[in-house]
Amino acid sequence: MIKRRKTKTVKVGTVNIGSSAPVVIQSMTKVPTTDIARCVKQINQLVQAGCRLVRIAVPRRADTAAFAKIVQKVDVPLIADVHFSPDRAIEAIEAGAAKIRLNPGNIKNRKDILRIIDAAKMNKVAIRAGVNEASIDSRNSIQETRRESGVEHRVSKMLRDMKKYIRLFESRNFSQLVLSAKSSDTLRTIDINRKLAETFPYPIHLGLTHAGLPEDARVPSAVTLGALLAEGIGDTLRVSIAGDPVEETKIAKQILISLGLYPRLGPELIVCPTCGRVEINVIKLARRVEKAISDIHKPLRIAVMGCIVNGPGEAADADIAVCAAKNKAYIYSRGRRIAVVPESKAIPALLKELQKI
Ligand code: SF4
Repeated sequence: MIKRRKTKTVKVGTVNIGSSAPVVIQSMTKVPTTDIARCVKQINQLVQAGCRLVRIAVPRRADTAAFAKIVQKVDVPLIADVHFSPDRAIEAIEAGAAKIRLNPGNIKNRKDILRIIDAAKMNKVAIRAGVNEASIDSRNSIQETRRESGVEHRVSKMLRDMKKYIRLFESRNFSQLVLSAKSSDTLRTIDINRKLAETFPYPIHLGLTHAGLPEDARVPSAVTLGALLAEGIGDTLRVSIAGDPVEETKIAKQILISLGLYPRLGPELIVCPTCGRVEINVIKLARRVEKAISDIHKPLRIAVMGCIVNGPGEAADADIAVCAAKNKAYIYSRGRRIAVVPESKAIPALLKELQKI
């Protein structure tokens, strides 16, 4: 079982972020914010898929005006995604944002940042303060860091920037802070987040920037976020893909489920990878089983194995396993053989045994 790092608790509307609460999945809308109906529809889809917070970009005045209307139409706390504009941040806070995402590095005037902090404090709005590798300090300093000693220097520069921002928040006694430090590089993201976790008591938002198209983004996201979560680091996460945000949410959920950080609500289907011993089409059988169990909402382990040589042993901890041989299916329950049926009867036999469970 994973031991979470102990953090402060940050309230984002009705959702708590921090070690006292489960890891929170969030995602972002990808339709124009001013298209209120589509935005609300997408938010509801994300909530249905497992998001407990949804972020919305508010680049223009019209977006914060739409944000105020969207807040009234949904049941989930909303985060306003602000870049560069202190006015958008204040407008979003006044429009009912439960949290704002701010990269203090792209709001140059210290007084503006303090103005945002004071407005957030007054309205009980949380702030995610982020550093991105691509925007550490100024353009000159990026070039300078790239020239200098590479990875370690970049990571320590991000940490130094974060320390500077946190001093600003703490100078106003503002503690409703979530931290994020992002890079598109897996190892640097792991490194900087470990350092944030060692240095500050605030909850951490995990993410990998510009992860790519879904097929390219899944593995780096799972590796990066999974490695950190396995060490107990990370209190909320967003998987970024160039694609449907519902897909982002599903990937985030799979990462958490695989680490035991999110309850499994349905059966887990284990399928052997197949090898030269198979005498039937295992993938086809597994697809049929997948369909047959799609209405079951219990956390059962169901295995489909391609032979009875290794299948029963490899599926010994499954609640029910189907081990296929030529024209026959052997049904096992927790390693004990309970039935042998013709291959064509494998699914009804499986369902019959599942009903008993
Ligand atoms: S269960 Fe049998 S068929 Fe499947 S991979 Fe193992 S040995 Fe091969």
